[in-house]
Amino acid sequence: MAKEKKYVYMFGDAYGLGRELLGGKGAGLVEMTHIGVPIPQGFTITTEACTLYYEEGKKIPQYLIDDIYAKMGVLQKVTGKNFGGDTNPLLVSVRSGARASMPGMMDTILNLGLNDKTVVALAKQTGNERFAYDSFRRFILMFTNIAKGHPRTEMDKMLDDLKKEKGYKLDTEVTTPELKVLVEKYKAYYKKTFGEDFPSDPYVQLITAVGAVFSSWDNPRANVYRQMNGIPYEWGTAVNVQSMAFGNMGEDSGTGVAFSRNPSTGENEIYAEFLPNAQGEDVVAGIRTPLKKEEFQKRLPEVFEQFKKTIKVMEAHYKDMQDMEFTVEKGKLYFLQTRNGKRTARAALKIACDLVDEGVIDEEEACLRVEPKQLNDLLHPTFDPADLKKHKPFVTGLPASPGAGTGHLVFTAEEAKAEHDLGHKVVLARAETSPEDIIGMVNAEAILTARGGMTSHAAVVARSMGKCCVAGAGAAFIDEEKKTLTVDGKTYTEKDVISVDGNMGYVYEGEIKMIEAGTGGDFGRLMAWADKYRRMKIRVNANTPTDAEVGAKFGGEGIGLCRTERMFFGTDRILHMRAMILSDNTEQRVAALEKLRPYQVSDFYNMYMTNPGKMVCIRLLDPPLHEFLPEIGDTETIKNIAKDLNIEEQKVIDRIGQLKQANPMMGFRGVRLCVAYPEIYRMQATAIIQAAIKAQKDLKQPVEPEIMIPLTGALKEFHYAKGIVVEAVEAEMAKAGVKLVYHVGTMIEVPRGALQAGEIAKEAEFFSYGTNDLTQLTMGFSRDDAGQFLNYYYEKKIYEFDPFQTVDVDGVGELVKIAFDRGRATRKDLLVGVCGETGGDPASIEFYNKVGLDYVSCSPFRVPLARLAAAQAEIKLQREKKAAKK
Ligand code: PEP
Ligand code: MG
Repeated sequence: MAKEKKYVYMFGDAYGLGRELLGGKGAGLVEMTHIGVPIPQGFTITTEACTLYYEEGKKIPQYLIDDIYAKMGVLQKVTGKNFGGDTNPLLVSVRSGARASMPGMMDTILNLGLNDKTVVALAKQTGNERFAYDSFRRFILMFTNIAKGHPRTEMDKMLDDLKKEKGYKLDTEVTTPELKVLVEKYKAYYKKTFGEDFPSDPYVQLITAVGAVFSSWDNPRANVYRQMNGIPYEWGTAVNVQSMAFGNMGEDSGTGVAFSRNPSTGENEIYAEFLPNAQGEDVVAGIRTPLKKEEFQKRLPEVFEQFKKTIKVMEAHYKDMQDMEFTVEKGKLYFLQTRNGKRTARAALKIACDLVDEGVIDEEEACLRVEPKQLNDLLHPTFDPADLKKHKPFVTGLPASPGAGTGHLVFTAEEAKAEHDLGHKVVLARAETSPEDIIGMVNAEAILTARGGMTSHAAVVARSMGKCCVAGAGAAFIDEEKKTLTVDGKTYTEKDVISVDGNMGYVYEGEIKMIEAGTGGDFGRLMAWADKYRRMKIRVNANTPTDAEVGAKFGGEGIGLCRTERMFFGTDRILHMRAMILSDNTEQRVAALEKLRPYQVSDFYNMYMTNPGKMVCIRLLDPPLHEFLPEIGDTETIKNIAKDLNIEEQKVIDRIGQLKQANPMMGFRGVRLCVAYPEIYRMQATAIIQAAIKAQKDLKQPVEPEIMIPLTGALKEFHYAKGIVVEAVEAEMAKAGVKLVYHVGTMIEVPRGALQAGEIAKEAEFFSYGTNDLTQLTMGFSRDDAGQFLNYYYEKKIYEFDPFQTVDVDGVGELVKIAFDRGRATRKDLLVGVCGETGGDPASIEFYNKVGLDYVSCSPFRVPLARLAAAQAEIKLQREKKAAKK
């Protein structure tokens, strides 16, 4: 079966096959061939071949090898060059290319096909012996490192030792005879290490390299990146084999990267970096700092003209900002790849808005062009200009990724993680970053590198993570071993705090105050479009009026969850709460609750006042009561409680002991508290209505309270709790002589509740999924302990995402659907939302939109993200529906 399948396609024969099969890079090369962009020709080995490789136990089956050989034959014809030939030799690059871009996470091998024979032919043909041997040297190094998985340290050291010995500063100073000696040394090292000669057969080189690229899909950094970006393991990577274009053939050659618009600001101007007489990896590794676009234009004006025109052709074709790699070989321009460019949040917004204004895309498409999670970058604070004025930068670099960050210096990824785990804020300083540093980058407030350009690894990865980054701070000397950062003779160590401004590229001593970000301009435009195209409403999880205000400012449409327990912790309130818990009988409990009521009335009133005209859903007490008491060992607090409440210390200790539960999250909490002590919910319901009546009067518009019962699993249970609430509400309204419209509903967070939704909806007017508990109880994963073992699941690809962050569609999602369908079957107008953590997650939002939920509720800072994600979900859904009709 597998044999009949086609696994290898020439770029010219694969138009329209799509990125699922060809990977992003392959699809790009095929597309570029189709629109006439000059590229070095080649072929793509599909993502299905990658799956096959893993199915075959990390082996490439013979029929696939035969097919690759056959395509090599075609490529030789197309290029007129010979693979392994002693005249006009064909050299190829072997690159990974997954469906989604994963910059720097997988492997690439260049100059493949070189051996003792072809290197001579290449030297002869190009008239550049130095170039030929330099290419050979690089190839042996890459092959050893990537195809054989051996560290490059020793080979790098051989070059460094030679440069030191000869007093050279640059690699380009190494002479041809010296390169020849190095090649022999590399080969000898290879033989010593692997017990065999360096493979001289280019076909053996090729198949080994293809296997290595497939294997790199499963390397640790690719796995981390996939997890962070929600890329499924099953996708696999394609491999692109492409004839080499040489940027290191003299001053009329070079290599570079370009963006069709500025990836940092979004300005409509080509952003390019060019390294003359160099190969691609020199740019990406950030070892040499590249030239600016203007210098490229000055040196090679004709090439630059063609370059500019072709970029415009590509952007017009793809209707989006492109990120391209190009090479100039002796005055001839080749593009090596193009893809939709990674960009900062600010640039993403500007580009989307500009493309709408230019008539290239419509508003719906603009909504799809901005990554919802990126919006967070714009909401995060920047340095306070007033405080900033008091500081002078001690070093500057490239503004590689916007934002601001302050923290203690650390010099390794491991330290960054360790310090972050201890709750410390850190800035990761590296001479240059490599993909292995990704864990450190995730855990740092900001990243600073001494070397590298805007497209160096640090810059690209930081931008995609929305992390503040200053790259290429050339005046800084960073010694990772000694853990020092030295600028102008002044040395900074791990003890020092620095502040990094990724918008400007400035680095300051000490800590600088931060301020909140603005939300107007392009942001406002895009949000308005998102609001136009989304169906679901976005509410806010807010426990305080401040949360509610922030949420409203970001466009929240009411409160989806107000966790009232958070209101009991103030120093003036906790004592009454404790008195309630320590009561001996109902009368005492009622008396303590009465003391809490005025606080609740005022809190709820403020929540209503910050959300005029919008729904505010208040949840009655949920957590287990021990959370309001100290630990048994906290004698000091115990003593104080006893004193304040005028009771024996032992009584407090006994009560703490009584309230101890083996599984508190599955224990005495939620609606169960009401079943035991109805007076608690009675007081809260009374307070809600008192607050609503007062707010309605002051706002001069109706207030329509939603009262939510947590953890319901059965109709009778809900019926009991609702009875208590309704009785209190009706009594209060009668007393005040005011009639309010109000709603009593429930959280759906116990699997039984989801299954019994049809019954519960007979009395519940609304449902709100609490996916934190629903996930915990469905999967049997403690929400507080899952962190201890989930990593093992990710490593083994059993579960790939944190189900508390992104809804587990197959399990928890199934319950969500069941409860939705059963609930709506009973009550047509049942209002259904979600208020668990997943309510602010774009992938989950897409799922909830499809199920048909009315709203999602999330933390205030996630509201813009949720608005955009909900719009994207609906736009995609409508497109799917249209496509299905066709
Ligand atoms: C939930 O369980 O998803 C929820 C929102 O409630 P809490 O997190 O307060 O348990
Ligand atoms: Mg819950």
